[in-house]
Amino acid sequence: MEENGNLFLNIKADDLRALGFDRFAVIKTSEVTFSPEVRQMCEVNRCGRYNTTWACPPGIGTLEECMARCRVFENCAVFSRAYQLEDSFDFEGMMEGHEQFSEASEELRKMIEGKFLMLSVEGCSKCGKCTYPDAPCRFPEKLSGSLEGYGIFVNRLAGAAGMPYNSGPNTVTYFGAVFF
Ligand code: SF4
Repeated sequence: MEENGNLFLNIKADDLRALGFDRFAVIKTSEVTFSPEVRQMCEVNRCGRYNTTWACPPGIGTLEECMARCRVFENCAVFSRAYQLEDSFDFEGMMEGHEQFSEASEELRKMIEGKFLMLSVEGCSKCGKCTYPDAPCRFPEKLSGSLEGYGIFVNRLAGAAGMPYNSGPNTVTYFGAVFF
């Protein structure tokens, strides 16, 4: 892979660095592991976003539908960023990192040219109040589903991409992916 060439579609490594992503790699979609267990973890709702927007289950569709959407594409660009926390109970720091990662993913979406499917962190806060579940998503073309919501084992995704899932004590690492 050429450092100054396109990593995927029209996106270069420097573009990802400028958005704050500190690790990235391109793998084959066939290396991405999908699992009903991950969807079951969503149902436990530890993140509090289950059944709240069109970006997460069940609104996002069945596991089979999610897999089929990804498998239309041959390749998967994985990107991540580690955020420093004050300590392992720094919930505010985790939420701040989550929001920053979501915003950086949105900026990346605006830069990409061509056909792709972007997945990122849980939930969607594009609208003041989500239409879910009473009316269709206002911006389906801009909706980034969550990696976990799509049933993707993020620690295995990180492993396949040669990226650390955990960046050490007092950090939180978020991941996103572009299927293309
Ligand atoms: S874009 Fe708006 S309507 Fe669609 S999932 Fe996000 S918040 Fe809900």
